[in-house]
Amino acid sequence: QRLIVTLDGPAGSGKSTVARMLADRLGVEFLDTGAMYRGLTAKALDRGINPAEEGYAVVGLARNCDIRFDFGHSPPRLFIGSQDMTERLRDQHVTAHVSDVAALAGVRQVLVDAQRKVGAEHPRLVTEGRDQGSVVFPNADVKFYLDARAAVRAQRRADQIRASGRHADLEAIRDAIVARDHKDSTRADGPLICPEDAQRIDTSEMTLDEVVDLLERRVRE
Ligand code: C5P
Repeated sequence: QRLIVTLDGPAGSGKSTVARMLADRLGVEFLDTGAMYRGLTAKALDRGINPAEEGYAVVGLARNCDIRFDFGHSPPRLFIGSQDMTERLRDQHVTAHVSDVAALAGVRQVLVDAQRKVGAEHPRLVTEGRDQGSVVFPNADVKFYLDARAAVRAQRRADQIRASGRHADLEAIRDAIVARDHKDSTRADGPLICPEDAQRIDTSEMTLDEVVDLLERRVRE
């Protein structure tokens, strides 16, 4: 039986971890759509393309390269052609350019199509991003919109970075998050908005487990 659950929200709202854990608990597949935008960004930067100035080149790349997940791994790994991009998706360099790539209508067309195809192949799915409930899967079975205060989101990002042994500058992270939110929500198409039929959850005061418990209960209701 089909079960499409969408999770949308701004950077650092805890979506990706929550989505992955929720998918595990429900025993369904997990789709991280931000990884697709990030993978394409990494590839463009490899090619020496400046996404902010050479949008046409990024769109050309999106149309001509095969961006896909290997769902044989948990969590799934992101490939472009035969190249595994997974380890590079969270590089600062990639994060700094990804909103410019995501703002390109031609890119969104290609990736939205690819995401719908994943949904058709894996009709039991938790999918996570910015536009999953609004644009990609408007007929989803359950829709969530996760949010948290900017300061909380910055702190979570910083903790994540420090946990991986790297240095994190909290203020710089907060500025970057606010800037990325602004770009993501003022985009001409596919703006970051809470779909009308989504359950909005502010996770500022909740632990990860509390969020996953709540979502699991709501899905099973
Ligand atoms: O969720 P994550 O931080 O990995 O997303 C990276 C970027 O990809 C976002 O800042 C946004 O610009 C873009 N994105 C998007 N639509 C999605 C998922 C991500 O525009 N469905």
